[in-house]
Amino acid sequence: MPSSTSPDQGDDDLEACVLRFSDLDLKDTSLMNPSSSLKAELDVSAKKKYSFAKKKLAVTSSTSKSLESTDKRNPFKEDLTRNQEVSTWLPDISCFNPDELISGQGNDEGEVLLYYCYCDLKDPDWVCAWQTALCQHLHLTGKVRIATEGINGTVGGSRLATRLYVSVMLSCPLFKDYLCKDDFKTSKGGACCFPELRVGVFEEIVPMGISPNKISYKKPGIHLSPGEFHKEVEKFLSQANQEESDTILLDCRNFYESKIGRFQGCLAPDIRKFSYFPSYVDENLELFKEKRVLMYCTGGIRCERGSAYLKTKGVCKEVFQLKGGIHKYLEEFPDGFYKGKLFVFDERYALSFNNDIVSECSYCGVPWDHYNLCSTPQCRQLVLTCPACQERGFTACCVTCQDKGNRQAASPAQSSFKEECECTARRPRVPRELSRRGPLTAGASPLKPGAQAGC
Ligand SMILES: [Zn+2]
Ligand SMILES: [Zn+2]
Ligand SMILES: [Zn+2]
Repeated sequence: MPSSTSPDQGDDDLEACVLRFSDLDLKDTSLMNPSSSLKAELDVSAKKKYSFAKKKLAVTSSTSKSLESTDKRNPFKEDLTRNQEVSTWLPDISCFNPDELISGQGNDEGEVLLYYCYCDLKDPDWVCAWQTALCQHLHLTGKVRIATEGINGTVGGSRLATRLYVSVMLSCPLFKDYLCKDDFKTSKGGACCFPELRVGVFEEIVPMGISPNKISYKKPGIHLSPGEFHKEVEKFLSQANQEESDTILLDCRNFYESKIGRFQGCLAPDIRKFSYFPSYVDENLELFKEKRVLMYCTGGIRCERGSAYLKTKGVCKEVFQLKGGIHKYLEEFPDGFYKGKLFVFDERYALSFNNDIVSECSYCGVPWDHYNLCSTPQCRQLVLTCPACQERGFTACCVTCQDKGNRQAASPAQSSFKEECECTARRPRVPRELSRRGPLTAGASPLKPGAQAGC
């Protein structure tokens, strides 16, 4: 078993019986990259492994053909999808007490995994069927998006289940060349963090709204490790005049994410969805001319194609992106230049790595960063309202919504009002950064203290 798939120390039992295919050394590159002359060169142990793999993967005689072919790609990838036997790629859990897999319902015992992998997937439907079976097998909930450009998952369950999931992913021929253990960000949580399991095939693994054929993950900005990124931010912040700097620290997340936590000195676009990001770039192209752009997002996935998009414009001096996103940065620098919470798209809403609060109650302005859903049914806006204000009945995202809520309470029969309120009406879909003359600091225009409720 490759060392990168070894579970943490203290779980030795895991390694012994984790996978049905655990003794197939999938790191053997000669096996995975066959050339026409390879077959003759296979030594005894490799042959043994190969025959084992054949058995385990229910590979038909077509495999030996593909081994002899000039196709340099991983033959198992083809066979995985050809055989359609997703059950072959499920870990053996017979040696575990089922309770160990199902437990972790409480936040203390379980874990949430966040990961993505950009790689060419020939048969996303097969991967979808397999991931569905795998998550169900391990009692995981969450969301997994699959596309021909790769996979993006957030799944929660017991710690045993998440470790098994990681091991399977790291051993799977489809991903093993592109994923390492470090690509899985972990946080406290569990199956309880998600209402259900949703696995699906989409055009993109993160919805930017542009076909992967047009903007490919293969042309991203330069990756910076958390340490390198930290140094760049330090350099940027030490400049006396940041607005005249040749560097822009760009948060490419949505406004409600950067509102409760962000890097000092960042530009945080006031956008509601990542699919507005390309238009935001287009509308504000002047801003990026001759700049070195340091981009970041939650786990790094949005930056991969976001930076690729920005690069196609050909105006920036350079485009960098934070590898592993804020998640990895905070693991290394919990008291670094990122202040506040890390927003996550599940029922926890935010992860906390330090005690900073950078946002405030939308009603009274006291420091506050716990989101609630607007109390008016059908409204999906998040609202920052402190306990005292909640007590006073301020539980909606804005006055319009509060009124709607009151009206509906008065006449419950009238339940069909639109999902519109001041928050959505007031917000331009694609904001223009009118001038860079203003302070380019955290809390620039969209993040002003005392901002309107819900925005
Ligand atoms: Zn308040
Ligand atoms: Zn609302
Ligand atoms: Zn509203």
